[in-house]
Amino acid sequence: MSSPVFDYARSRRSRLKLSAVDHFWSKVDQRAGPDGCWPWTGHIHKVIGYGCCPVPNSDGEWATEFTHRVALFLTTGEWSERYKTCVRHLCDNPPCCNPAHLRLGSLKDNTADARRAGTLGPKNPTHGENHHKAKLTASDITIIRERMDAGESSASVAIDYGVAGETVRAAWKRQTWRHIP
Ligand SMILES: [Zn+2]
Repeated sequence: MSSPVFDYARSRRSRLKLSAVDHFWSKVDQRAGPDGCWPWTGHIHKVIGYGCCPVPNSDGEWATEFTHRVALFLTTGEWSERYKTCVRHLCDNPPCCNPAHLRLGSLKDNTADARRAGTLGPKNPTHGENHHKAKLTASDITIIRERMDAGESSASVAIDYGVAGETVRAAWKRQTWRHIP
């Protein structure tokens, strides 16, 4: 599966591409220098704390993407394949977009990172019960549906929100959160 950014970088509209890349970095606060954290100054996801930005694919359709994934791609060309890998924060600072703090890793690595950072509950949580109590907001539902529409697995999305895969699938199928268009 190709990434929206990847498609975009390959697109022939190079003038638009350049300005969009410049625009992306203009929203990353790099004042901390090469070793410091570079927080995203635009929209931050309320629950998981990642920066979010819209990125276009080669068809000109826009989808929400996490800024650390975009930052690593724009710097190294590495894109995390859905289902297999993800982009880890070595600094445990979710809005950070400093590529020096980002690494491709496995989904297992990312879950371990989140536990260490305290953003994902205790190890070996009770299956289901606790997860179902996790609070999702209307804006989460919108992003969850966008990510599922883009072909991401419910398991991968669920990890980011600390909820069960079936919770994500039900929201996506409009069995829950039906009032959100
Ligand atoms: Zn950082």
